[in-house]
Amino acid sequence: MHTRFNPTRREFLGSVAAFSIFPLEIEKPELILYNANIFTVDDTQPRAQAVAISHGRFLAVGSNDDVLHLATAATKKLDLAGKTVLPGFNDAHCHPASSGLDMVVTVDCDLPSIAAIQAALRERAAKTPPGQWVYGSKYDDTKGAEGRMLSRSDLDAAVPDHPAAVQHRGGHTTFYNSAAFRLAGVDEKTPDPTGGKFDRDPATDKLTGRAADAANALLEKHQPDTATRENRREGVKRISKAMARAGITSVGDAGDGPEDLLAYQDAREAGELLFRVYCLIRFQHLDRMIAAGLRTGLGDDFVRIGACKLFADGSISERTARLSKPYEGTTDYFGLLVATEEEQYQRSRKAHLAGWQIGTHANGDVAIDQTLRVYERLQRESPHNDPRFRLEHCTQINDSLVARIRAIGAIPTPFSSYVYFHGEKMHFYGAERLKNMFAMRSFLDAGIRPTQASDYTASPFEPMMALQSQVTRTDTKGNVWGANQRISIEEAVRVGTLNGAYATYEENSKGSISPGKLADLVVLGRDPLRENPSTLVTIPVERTMLGGRWSFES
Ligand SMILES: [Zn+2]
Repeated sequence: MHTRFNPTRREFLGSVAAFSIFPLEIEKPELILYNANIFTVDDTQPRAQAVAISHGRFLAVGSNDDVLHLATAATKKLDLAGKTVLPGFNDAHCHPASSGLDMVVTVDCDLPSIAAIQAALRERAAKTPPGQWVYGSKYDDTKGAEGRMLSRSDLDAAVPDHPAAVQHRGGHTTFYNSAAFRLAGVDEKTPDPTGGKFDRDPATDKLTGRAADAANALLEKHQPDTATRENRREGVKRISKAMARAGITSVGDAGDGPEDLLAYQDAREAGELLFRVYCLIRFQHLDRMIAAGLRTGLGDDFVRIGACKLFADGSISERTARLSKPYEGTTDYFGLLVATEEEQYQRSRKAHLAGWQIGTHANGDVAIDQTLRVYERLQRESPHNDPRFRLEHCTQINDSLVARIRAIGAIPTPFSSYVYFHGEKMHFYGAERLKNMFAMRSFLDAGIRPTQASDYTASPFEPMMALQSQVTRTDTKGNVWGANQRISIEEAVRVGTLNGAYATYEENSKGSISPGKLADLVVLGRDPLRENPSTLVTIPVERTMLGGRWSFES
């Protein structure tokens, strides 16, 4: 093992040493972590025992002897007693700002039964002034004790007088009560809009309460945004604390607007932002952003403008993704496309020509095919030399899609924990189709750089769950789905760290424990590389470091 210094810094010091003008303080580490089992995710030095940290970056990485001798009287030294250290995790596609706000202003419906959800909503309604909405979040239709979906009448019983909306944790379907439909003027005669669907009782044709994808727009028009700037800042504070506790140091927020950018900046200024965030901007805001001279990359190591976010289809956890073959058990239900190819092209073109990276939500093979055609056309017409087009989720693939993803250098951000966490939904897709879903093995074998992503709230953000799901392809009940897509634990760690940095053009500044990179790392209670894969999820996160400071200590 040998020590490596940041070469640019060393060259810099070499060039000034003869003059002795600058004090050499920047070479002096503030902190050294030693006696650690470090997996660096840096191929030039995969393993190390110690790191020296200065000014928020790794100054040196190597053996205890090599690194400890850099210490001065002022250097703090921390003996990690053999604990495992990995680079901080990067959740490349999640929704921290909105899920943090949910924590502040909505009823958490991640509850074990419809009865429990009703009780929680009833309590909130009692405190809500007449005429105002009651909102629920993180509902999951397949996880309740009753074994059925929440219905309009369940909601009417709990919230008879206020309009109520309970969003599925996947974010594409919402369940409404009768007061909400009345307020929006939606009834059984309302036709399904393009890209959307109101579920109806097959016997009576009455609305069941569930609205999918574009159908929600008819109700959202009647939901005034009552969240305050303070609520949003508080949301960022809460979610970043929870994510730091799980070992996350970077996120891609996959759907931001100006109010979210403000919330991140407010939280940062208050010292409450505990991750680095790459803000994918919803397409609706693109014109304003372009007019203000903004584009992908503006910002700094903590808050940065990311890609322009577009949508092609629906959701996997809510079964609205657009598939080429019908959902299992149906002959004619294929899911929903939410934009035509021409719409997608026009929107993407505007972003592409203005110098934006593009991230398009595309789950089903039909949506991925359509999105790739748009990307291919853009590169034919106005080539960028490093566009790093993103395929958000990119769930269901085939060989020809993989070849095209590779050819254009696109980046998939597949759901990392779905096999483990959403196992009870996998029968909607079937064992055969699962061989080509969340297809990490196929991507890595093709030389593509997929990321780790929770899509939180769609699935939990704990990176240890992502590792277990990708390595075992086994759900919580022991069912295996698509064993052919298993990857090794070393691969899964790289996907969750360095690949996330690549997806945001930041692979030279973070994602591995390398000299010169940002000092983001996690200290674990056990070594995932030696752990039984079926217990990875139980490995405790003991500390998380963000830019040389502990963002979480157990
Ligand atoms: Zn998302």
